[in-house]
Amino acid sequence: MLINLSELFTCEGKRKVYTVSFELASIKFSGDVYTILKAEPFELEIANIGGKKFTMSGQLPVTVEAPCARCLEPVSFVCELTFDRELALGKGEEQEEGLDEEPYLSGYSLDVDQLVCNELLLSLPMRVLCSEDCKGICNRCGTNLNHETCTCDTRSLDPRMSVIQEIFNQFKEV
Ligand SMILES: [Zn+2]
Ligand SMILES: [Zn+2]
Repeated sequence: MLINLSELFTCEGKRKVYTVSFELASIKFSGDVYTILKAEPFELEIANIGGKKFTMSGQLPVTVEAPCARCLEPVSFVCELTFDRELALGKGEEQEEGLDEEPYLSGYSLDVDQLVCNELLLSLPMRVLCSEDCKGICNRCGTNLNHETCTCDTRSLDPRMSVIQEIFNQFKEV
């Protein structure tokens, strides 16, 4: 969703509240797909504080779902995003010094999806786990060890045993 902020540009001191929504269904981050389960429309207040500077404020809780890094079960969690910062609008016409180039701003339009996406990427956990002591899945039989136990020997196998294991595996695959 794009919002056009040009009406604020000419009026110093003017502030406006925009009701906006984040419309992406999922985002990708370091090879994982994070599904957006819930992101309600939210309010973004933007004010012209003079000197070609603008402030933005707003917040949005986003419910995200991603697979547990150990057992691959879907885990949902909430990221509380805040959008409190200073902006320089109208770039491209006149270059402002000292403020970073924001990828979600282009001229007077603000791309809400891009804004939320950036913020979300910064607040995602390094690793999603269903619980700190998730036991993961057995790397031999694929059993989810949080729910069941398996009889696989997870110790390193005796070389003589591994031959038998090999034969056994081939037999299973047929
Ligand atoms: Zn897990
Ligand atoms: Zn197993």
